[in-house]
Amino acid sequence: MSESNDLIKKIKLAADKNLDKYVVKALSASAEHGTFGMEIVDRLHDKLPRTSCGNCGKCCNSVSIYSLEYHRIMREIMATWQPERIRRLVSSIMDIESRKATADNEKRLRCTFRDEHTRMCLIHPVRPFPCRIFGLLKENGLRECENVNDLAFPAQTVTQDYLIDLQIKLPENSEAFEPYPKRGKIHFFPFEFWFFRYVFSPERALQIYRDVLVPISTPLTKMWETNQTLPKLEPADYEM
Ligand code: SF4
Ligand code: SF4
Repeated sequence: MSESNDLIKKIKLAADKNLDKYVVKALSASAEHGTFGMEIVDRLHDKLPRTSCGNCGKCCNSVSIYSLEYHRIMREIMATWQPERIRRLVSSIMDIESRKATADNEKRLRCTFRDEHTRMCLIHPVRPFPCRIFGLLKENGLRECENVNDLAFPAQTVTQDYLIDLQIKLPENSEAFEPYPKRGKIHFFPFEFWFFRYVFSPERALQIYRDVLVPISTPLTKMWETNQTLPKLEPADYEM
């Protein structure tokens, strides 16, 4: 069994044994974070165009977000979801195996917030920045998805510079970590990373990022694999 599969299995077993404890820890962390930075996230979201699309769900795979966005989502969930629904969410976050997928021959982790039965985003009002801008940018003259319509300005193309300017306050107010030595700190990680960072520890979350989240997501693998093999880090210790 590969280290990745071994760790995925251990995370699931830990959830089966300690689900209620992890629910409390996740909610406490976002409650303690308070409302700091939440208005920055809301203001940013308000400045983005409202869009419509075909809602096929193909793009609803785990995206990398800032810690402020993680807390914004968790605080919305705390305020609006019933306890049993939150339990199911935490169980889904920790059941990585069931969300592994492929799209266009690339590996993906399906987003835990995509409800495949209703075809809805469970956190639509507070969905993160990457979900809001998907399909708005044109790269090499093509949009990532041609079925996205800007409802206010259908002919407008949102530029990279406009988006960079909008996001400027997010990194300033979000946490950053260095997943690989000497490769620099980054501010954006998958939702799962932030969950494990607050429920376990930053070190354990980084280990899960390197050993599970990067290998099972082709976009993340490509992001780090710039012509070099990813370094092997400390010996695996997967006790949860
Ligand atoms: S943006 Fe495009 S790929 Fe994503 S759900 Fe909408 S139609 Fe599907
Ligand atoms: S947060 Fe919502 S819109 Fe974004 S990937 Fe998940 S289900 Fe799709």
